[in-house]
Amino acid sequence: MNGGLLLDMDGVIYRGSELIEGAAVFVRTLIEHDVPFRFLTNNSQRTRRDVATKLRRLGLPVEDHHIYTCSMATARFLSRQTPGGTAYCIGEGGLMTALHHNGFSIVDKDPDYVVVGEGRTLSFEQIETALRMILAGARLVATNLDPNCPTDKGMRPGCGATVAMLETASGVKAFSVGKPSPWMLSDACSDIGLPPERVVMVGDTMTTDILGAVQLGLHSVLVLTGSTRPEDLGQYAYKPDLIVDSIGHLDFESVAALWGKGMRISPEPETVEAA
Ligand SMILES: [Mg+2]
Repeated sequence: MNGGLLLDMDGVIYRGSELIEGAAVFVRTLIEHDVPFRFLTNNSQRTRRDVATKLRRLGLPVEDHHIYTCSMATARFLSRQTPGGTAYCIGEGGLMTALHHNGFSIVDKDPDYVVVGEGRTLSFEQIETALRMILAGARLVATNLDPNCPTDKGMRPGCGATVAMLETASGVKAFSVGKPSPWMLSDACSDIGLPPERVVMVGDTMTTDILGAVQLGLHSVLVLTGSTRPEDLGQYAYKPDLIVDSIGHLDFESVAALWGKGMRISPEPETVEAA
């Protein structure tokens, strides 16, 4: 039974700049068996090439096309909504490059959209400019709503924190494209050419990776090397199909069994022969 995978990165493949044990073997196995897969990230800062370079430096044999970021999802979404549109952009290279690649222009006056990603160059002046644009009718779009992001030195505020400031000031609710939005996962499945029920999502975060998978009908595997502890699971009304300690303990047979589950047809109830 063939299928594909979507793999979250932070907390699944690496933590900070450290590769998680077994991740390299797992990824090599996917490549050797020609299994279609994408690394998915809700970090909008880097381009897919930047992310691929980071993974190669960590020892993973990946190419640019293996990467799918929330910046790409946002830019593709916007280009379908408003082909050739304009955006005022709070974010960095990954977001701007994706918008340009999808036919958008970055402007600092009268944009169709205010698009918010993460970065370390945010200024109050940008927030002020964005607020006035939103109040004048620009639509507010977030690459993701993650409240914070882990770094080597601890947490930093995430895109969701910046978006919350603009939402509070404007009274306008943002539309978010990144995980757990079904749009991002659906587009990633299209990218590998498979329907959601033939795809397994591997992630460490219940509220993004697993929730998005459950909502769109993907199979899901939770790894415990990131943000979720076993004792946290009781608070969610949804659960993954499988829980493993780490990606190093995720065997290929289990993944194939989930693909098979997607295609299985329930047997007809047995008929009772008349005596
Ligand atoms: Mg993660």
